[in-house]
Formats: sequence, C-alpha cells, structure tokens
Amino acid sequence: MVHLSNLKANHYDVIVVGAGVIGAAIAYELAQQGVKVALLEKNQPASGASGAAGGMLAAHSEHFAHPELYQLALYSQSLYSKLATDLLEKTGIDIELRTEGFLLPLTKLELQLRHKEPLQADQRYDKTFDENLFPLPNKGHTSASTHNDSKVDRKEWWSPSYLAQVEPHIYAPSGMIYNPDEPQLIPALFNQALVQAAIQHHVDFYPETEVYRLLHSQGKNHITGVITNQGEIYAEQVVLTTGLSTQQLLATEQYSLPLVPVKGELIEVSTSSQYLGHTIYGEGIYIIPKSNHRIWIGATSKPERTDTTVDLSAIAQLLSGAEQFLPAIGSATFERCWSGIRPGTPDELPYLGRIQPLAGLWTASGHYRNGMLLAAGTAKWMAEALINNDTAHIPDCFSPERALQKSKSLSSKSRSTAKGVSTWN
Ligand SMILES: Cc1cc2nc3c(=O)[nH]c(=O)nc-3n(C[C@H](O)[C@H](O)[C@H](O)COP(=O)(O)OP(=O)(O)OC[C@H]3O[C@@H](n4cnc5c(N)ncnc54)[C@H](O)[C@@H]3O)c2cc1C
Repeated sequence: MVHLSNLKANHYDVIVVGAGVIGAAIAYELAQQGVKVALLEKNQPASGASGAAGGMLAAHSEHFAHPELYQLALYSQSLYSKLATDLLEKTGIDIELRTEGFLLPLTKLELQLRHKEPLQADQRYDKTFDENLFPLPNKGHTSASTHNDSKVDRKEWWSPSYLAQVEPHIYAPSGMIYNPDEPQLIPALFNQALVQAAIQHHVDFYPETEVYRLLHSQGKNHITGVITNQGEIYAEQVVLTTGLSTQQLLATEQYSLPLVPVKGELIEVSTSSQYLGHTIYGEGIYIIPKSNHRIWIGATSKPERTDTTVDLSAIAQLLSGAEQFLPAIGSATFERCWSGIRPGTPDELPYLGRIQPLAGLWTASGHYRNGMLLAAGTAKWMAEALINNDTAHIPDCFSPERALQKSKSLSSKSRSTAKGVSTWN
C-alpha cells in the first residue's frame, strides 16, 4: 500500500481509477510494458461487481448480440490459461481456473435448431453437429466435431446413461450438451491476484482512495490528473474503470454516458462429498462447482436495482431453478448469499476507448454480465491503445462516442454510494 502523503513524486504515465477486474487487468498489462501506473480504488479490490460474479468465462454459451463482442470474448477467453499460470507464479494466488467445462440442457438447443434461425456470427452449431444431434445416437456419448481447433466448438451430446455415470446427481432425461471449452474461476481471487501482480510490476496501488473529480490543464479540455479524498495526483492519461460509477465521474465534467445497473444475487451451498463436477448452464440459472465441495447457484437479473441486499424470494427462485437439474440439492447446507450490480450499457457493449472531447481521458466500463470473461482481452486492447495513443484495433462499436452526450453537472463532489457487493453469512 502507498499513501499519497508518502509519495516522492505524484506524477504517473497513467492513472487507472477503479481496481475491479477491468482496472486491475489494465494496470497489470500496462506495467508489464514499462508504463508507470497508479491504480486508485475507493474501497478495496473486488468490492464492486467483480467480487459478486459467478466467475464463468462463457464465451460460447453466452448469447452475444454483436459479432464484435463475441470475437472479443473468444480472444479474451483464450488468454486465461497462461494468465492463471503467470498470476500463480508471480503472486502465489491460485485463481482456481477450472476447465472441466459446461453442461447445457438439451431443450434450449432443440428449440434453437428447430427454429432454424439464420446463422449468426456466434452460431455454434455446424452441420456435422446438427446431424449428430438428431437422431440421437444410442451409444454412450458422441463427439459433435472432430476438429481440435479452439475456435471451433467441440460440443458433445451426453446421453442420460453416460451422464448418469459422470454426474450421478443430475436429472436430465434428454441428456445434456457438453462443452469442454468453457472455463470458470473464483472472481475475488482473480481480482486480488491481478492487483498483486500489478504491484509486483511497480504499479502504485492506492486503496481507499476515492476520485472526486478530474484535473484539467488551463485550456480546460486536457485532463491532467484527479482530485481524491487524499489529495491531487497527476498523469499524462487517466482511465476510468469505475464500472457504474463512470457515469457519476463523467457527470462532474458535464458529460453523460449511460450505464444500466442490473442487480444479481447468488447463493453458495456445500455438500459433504463431491456432488457436481461440471458447471450447469441453463436458461436463467447456472450451477457452478467450486473447491471444497462448494456449489454456487446464480443468478437473478433485476434491472434498475442498485441496492445490494438479497431478497428472500431470490433464494427460493435460485433453489427452484437448481432443483430442475439437481433434484436433491435442497439437502445441501446453505453457506451464504450475496448480490452485486452488473454495469450494463443500453446496447450491451462495453465502452472501450477515449472520452473524445477531453484529451487524455479514457474509459473501459460497462462490461455487464461478462466482465470476468472480457477482462483479459480488454486489458490487452486498452494497453495497446494507451501506449500507442491509437484505437484503430478496437472496433468502432465499442467507442464511448456512440453514447456520450453533453449534460448538466450533477454535483461538484459526485459520489457513488453503492459499494457494489454485500455478503450475508
Ligand atoms: C451477480 C453477478 C454475476 C456475474 N457473473 C459473471 C460471470 O459469471 N462471468 C463474467 O464474466 N462476469 C460476470 N459478472 C459481471 C462482472 O462481475 C462485471 O462485468 C465486472 O466485475 C465488471 O468489472 P469492473 O472492474 O468494470 O467493475 P467493478 O468490479 O465494479 O469495479 C469498479 C471499481 O471502481 C471503484 N470505484 C468506483 N468509483 C470510484 C471512484 N470514484 N474512485 C475510486 N474508485 C472507484 C469501485 O469501488 C470498484 O472497485 C457478474 C456480475 C454480477 C453482479
């Protein structure tokens, strides 16, 4: 930890505001390339949405409306294996990247195939797969694709009898689709490891340091630093990775950038022995096995809710969703529940790039329900953009310009009150 009062120099190449996974990943990436970075966080790492996530890196299973986002998701997902190894080596923190893969209910796939929807950029089912899926073969399980290319889905249909051998607690009379290419991790550990690794690469980390406002050059349109609760700090470039709070910080500059809060709740249960080996990814429900016989069940989706309480009805909803696939899960032990606020955008694309009217100001915000998955790729793109002062490699659809508008100032000390995550034991 570094306190501003202890600083010899308070001028940096880049200030990154917000140490969730997005800010921490960018700081780490920049520092590895020799950039002098300050990482500022008003609370602690993982105190925002990043501490509340399920940790799925579901590049194939998520429904991305935009092909560019799907491409970023695939690229980002491909970085995690090496990243997890590097973080372990550098920090000793095991982010518990698990690669057993996902199981998806067949009904969802059947519906999609029957509707014969036109091929999208994120289309996952090639002809071979379609033919293999129907009619269902009567052997144990069958491979959907012979390709061993990470860009080609390697889904398989697992028959009920095969599933019963592998996952005896799952109820799935039509079998399930197995996707080996979807990993998952522990979000808070990932966030902590990124911050620790950034510090090892000489990033100055300032926890409990809240940015109130931006500093300007005399001409007003050039950002030169930030004003915090601990004093002023200067940099050539400032990156807002403040999730939902990016909206409030830009409002102090009389700009509006719409972000949409979507609350989510999860529960954790434990079992006395191994109960589930694969993540179950259903419609509106996911069930994720973690270490020590823990299972996370998530998540609700409540637009415009910014409180971080957990509704009693959420627990009932999640339990009932999980019972579809794990009929006996009700006998597991309740451990805890929590909630967090997903930082959404109206078009469900994150904002990545310059806040154009204010030279030196950037943002990477609005990763909605896939910030864990997108963090690694976002960091690569943003570091390249900041170092070269060039955004040509970032597709235009991610530019904040698409939604940025001039607005009236909210308050000279606009503060976000929501911590973003709360836990009840
Ligand atoms: C219930 C739930 C489940 C999810 N599950 C998944 C999942 O399975 N897979 C997946 O990929 N994604 C998932 N997500 C989404 C993912 O958690 C988010 O997209 C991601 O955490 C966003 O990261 P961030 O760094 O932008 O935001 P945050 O984690 O919110 O970080 C922003 C940080 O900025 C700090 N900050 C704010 N204002 C200031 C200020 N003025 N000064 C200094 N610091 C400030 C905050 O304290 C916070 O730490 C889930 C989210 C939720 C809520």
